[in-house]
Amino acid sequence: MNLYSSGVEITMNNVPDIFGSMVFNEKVMQQRLPRDVYKAMKKTILDGKRMDLSTANVVANTMKDWAIENGATHFTHWFQPMTGITAEKHDSFISPAGGGSAIMEFSGKELVQGEPDASSFPSGGLRATFEARGYTAWDPTSYAFIKDSTLYIPTAFCSYSGEVLDKKTPLLRSMEAINTQAMRVLKLFGNSDVTSVKTTVGPEQEYFLIDRELYNKRKDLLFTGRTLIGAKPPKGQELEDHYFGSIKPRVTAFMKELDEELWKLGVYAKTKHNEVAPAQHELAPIYTTTNISSDHNQLTMELMKKVAQKHGLACLLHEKPFDCVNGSGKHNNWSISTNTGVNLFEPGDTPHENAQFLLFLCAVIAAVDDYQDLLRISVASAGNDRRLGANEAPPAVVSMFLGEELSGILNAIEEGTAFDIRKKEHIKIGVHVLPRFFKDTTDRNRTSPFAFTGNKFEFRMLGSSDSIACTNIMINTAVAEELRKFADTLEKADNFNEACEQIIKDTIKSHKRIIFDGNGYDDEWVKEAERRGLSNYRTTPEALSHYIDKKNLELFNRHKVYTDAEVHSRYEILLENYTKVICIEAQTLLEMVKRDILPAVSLYSRDLCDSILQKRSLSKDAECIFEKETVKAIDMLSTTAYKDCAKLDELLKNMNYNENKLNLAMHCKDNLLPLMEKIRISCDSLEEITSSKCWPYPTYGDLLFSVN
Ligand code: ADP
Ligand code: MG
Repeated sequence: MNLYSSGVEITMNNVPDIFGSMVFNEKVMQQRLPRDVYKAMKKTILDGKRMDLSTANVVANTMKDWAIENGATHFTHWFQPMTGITAEKHDSFISPAGGGSAIMEFSGKELVQGEPDASSFPSGGLRATFEARGYTAWDPTSYAFIKDSTLYIPTAFCSYSGEVLDKKTPLLRSMEAINTQAMRVLKLFGNSDVTSVKTTVGPEQEYFLIDRELYNKRKDLLFTGRTLIGAKPPKGQELEDHYFGSIKPRVTAFMKELDEELWKLGVYAKTKHNEVAPAQHELAPIYTTTNISSDHNQLTMELMKKVAQKHGLACLLHEKPFDCVNGSGKHNNWSISTNTGVNLFEPGDTPHENAQFLLFLCAVIAAVDDYQDLLRISVASAGNDRRLGANEAPPAVVSMFLGEELSGILNAIEEGTAFDIRKKEHIKIGVHVLPRFFKDTTDRNRTSPFAFTGNKFEFRMLGSSDSIACTNIMINTAVAEELRKFADTLEKADNFNEACEQIIKDTIKSHKRIIFDGNGYDDEWVKEAERRGLSNYRTTPEALSHYIDKKNLELFNRHKVYTDAEVHSRYEILLENYTKVICIEAQTLLEMVKRDILPAVSLYSRDLCDSILQKRSLSKDAECIFEKETVKAIDMLSTTAYKDCAKLDELLKNMNYNENKLNLAMHCKDNLLPLMEKIRISCDSLEEITSSKCWPYPTYGDLLFSVN
């Protein structure tokens, strides 16, 4: 049985029928909407044209009939508040119809706008509680779908005074910004057939799957998503026998059902495999328009958890659920595509196309360099701090990888030297054809945070639980800004080719410090990056403090992505979230140590003492070395743990939540986290010497290796 079962068993031959079967997509619209309404709908989707109410009424009614035929009884405006996850409030289609009967109704007004009572969503001071009203507005560019007998309508979420309270609106605005600026540049290159561009994204999603019964026994996983204690198991990932290994039957069954559920919702789930750490896996969809991809990634994460539960599993999306093995990230593959289907990062076949490719490439290079801080901020969270800079993940330094060939070409352009030594050819932009770079030669460096992979860029710093919206808001806006500067210059230039060449040269010269083709995991690189003046914000509070830097406020303002107030609200919400996460972790740790671990080891040492007495009653000379030494060690470790817990308790009690949010977050980072680490070390040592019968929690070994 499937979660959102249509009662049809999926076999491999009916995937095309099943695909998108729960989505009010293009095909359904074409079949069901009257011709003129369908045309108006298409216009709204393609050009963002507002829909008049009478058309919206027809669309709503058609949507409702289709939804009811497919088992829906309710509808919801589905939105993405700044909590990082999605929110929904369900209303039924029911309307009273005289004589105690009911009819099913859904109006255009209900489709276009909703009014959830939104006072409990974080707003970072944007909306006073007395003005709790927020409203949701339909995003017709992302298809509505049915899940759990409910029609889901993707929406944006704003306050009544118009401030943005969600992640979708700024994402749409950033797509608009890059569209505006890219179109200026494309026009100058004579692309008269192109009327719009959209950014595209394919996010690769990593996750852990563990047994649900074991999961339920770990308070740390239940409350915080990660293990706060846990001794290293005898075996971790050192044999590298899990990566791309054969998939276990329970996991296969989970993946199969997950694929089917995602396909029904129109998500192009494509690739799945085991990852490096035991119990770690990955799912990658085929890329699509950024805002749809962002919606789909949210659905994917949600369904991963739900489907896992059905299979007696728990899906962990935390960035670092286990300390001794790799954490989980998300790779944001990003590109720009024209409405005529051209990928702007596909190096062209003619000199003209090459020049255009190089100019867009330069915009990305400049954007990544000028806005390194924003990229880092877009992935900043308490969870991701445990991963970035650790061995398996890119360091907290943002840099770009272009591949040997492309870097060589850029060098040659900058210095005016010959690129092709044999032919002694100097590259002249707009005259010469660049050699083709193959994916193979560009994709080798897996350690770079921002890698060019042949015809797209792969940003690898995202944490597994991150919404991809933030990262893409930053990339889109930063690239829009660089394109704006280019367009300003080019529009005024007398000689287009020369001006273009000059921009490319200048950009390479001033931004080449961001390009690094070596091993990003090497300690040497961190030092080299510092010499180059690149920023290295190791922790979330350090990174976030730059969110409100003048240059960043100016950027968002200029491209109408965020107002100053909106940036400030995000800054505050993220800092507050960081503090909350660490406080919850600290409380959970205290509860585990004081109520489970210390009592358990105390009982165990009583057993050992009993054992000494009994042995001695049999033989006065019994040495009881094991028992004595263990009791001593337990006493020492538990005393340390107990005292550290008392200190942590004190710190938590003295937290002043009225204090400046940045100071509070810094306090958590500098004082709470190190103490928690110290307590963990005592606990892990205790685990290693305590009888497995007495230890109150499933161990790392149990958690990582029990799913078959
Ligand atoms: P790898 O594991 O080597 O990084 P994958 O094939 O797992 O590669 O993932 C590559 C991702 O990049 C897929 O989601 C794919 O759809 C996406 N992708 C490919 N082309 C583009 C593009 N033009 N724009 C955005 N994403 C793309
Ligand atoms: Mg990848």
